[in-house]
Amino acid sequence: MARDYYGLLGVNQNATDQELKRAYRKLARELHPDVNPDEEAQARFKEISTAYEVLTDPEKRRIVDLGGDPLESGGGGGGGFGGGFGGGGGLGDVFEAFFGGGGGAGRGPRGRVQPGADSLLRTKLTLAECATGVSKHVTVETAILCDGCTGAGTNGDSKPVRCETCNGAGEVQSIQRSFLGQVMTSRPCPTCRGAGETIPDPCHKCGGDGRVRAKRDITVKVPAGVAGGMRIRLTAQGEVGPGGGHPGDLYVEIVEQQHEIFVRDGEDLHCTIRVPMIDAALGTTVTVDTIMDGPKDITIEPGTQPGHVAVLRGHGMPKLRSGARGDIHAHLEVVVPSRLDHKQAKLLKEFKLLRDRDEAEVVSSGSQNSGGLFSRLREAFSGR
Ligand SMILES: [Zn+2]
Ligand SMILES: [Zn+2]
Repeated sequence: MARDYYGLLGVNQNATDQELKRAYRKLARELHPDVNPDEEAQARFKEISTAYEVLTDPEKRRIVDLGGDPLESGGGGGGGFGGGFGGGGGLGDVFEAFFGGGGGAGRGPRGRVQPGADSLLRTKLTLAECATGVSKHVTVETAILCDGCTGAGTNGDSKPVRCETCNGAGEVQSIQRSFLGQVMTSRPCPTCRGAGETIPDPCHKCGGDGRVRAKRDITVKVPAGVAGGMRIRLTAQGEVGPGGGHPGDLYVEIVEQQHEIFVRDGEDLHCTIRVPMIDAALGTTVTVDTIMDGPKDITIEPGTQPGHVAVLRGHGMPKLRSGARGDIHAHLEVVVPSRLDHKQAKLLKEFKLLRDRDEAEVVSSGSQNSGGLFSRLREAFSGR
């Protein structure tokens, strides 16, 4: 017995494809299993999907209009109504209608020409290169356009032909039985990998892919202020796609090498300066080799304590795409001599005596008493 496919979708016999789609979409919004878990709704969803699939297939619709049932005569339908999504690209139409793409056709073959993939490359930079920016030459192994066929994939004047496995649809369907009934699944055609066509006489250079592997030398302009982990995008410098498709992008990721003196924290740089005990006590000047501004002096005031941080403002790393600069933080480490010669030991003992007496008397006339001692101390410990 022929089913009333038009009635199921609530349209009349003259309905256009647009009207069918609109009617199906409207019903599917109410009945789709994701929206409506009710069992009856699911059964109806199956029915309207089948009706839509039948009526959008000109051949099947013709059978319906002649009073037949394409799913019965075609021998496709097993048990029950849900039994048959027919062959062809029907399911594509159903999905397309539900998920609302444009146009009237199904998904169809995706074609041989595909956009290329993005690629990623890592490049090592010194801290100085990160600070100043650099033009870096890199070699990347990638897919480039085949010069034998300029992407066409064919040999000489030969042409691609329609794939025989999928009949040009680019996908193949299979029906699986499950406890819910029959489920139609489609997957890319294994012969043409979804392209819908094959190349019987492929290009000898690329084997029909339209692209070949090759090494390319690229110059990357790295801006000042980059840091490890940042990526620079080079538009359309990635892999050429299958069939000579538009190339993807190339991302160059910065790997920052550790500096022997500085540890980076954003735009700030930290370093440790080691100062002999006597210099910390008497005061001194230490020179720090900044990365961008040459040597800079740091004044260590007399009596500076271990752990003191001297800051060189504006001598750190530049901020990316900005004129601003970070700071250098020099952390003071006071070095206590591990071995003393006789003269040094004698002087330190003298110093200790003086200090003990100062503390005992609580009177600070030390500067008068200790002047000569300090200069002798400095002399004895200089060069340490
Ligand atoms: Zn195929
Ligand atoms: Zn080729």
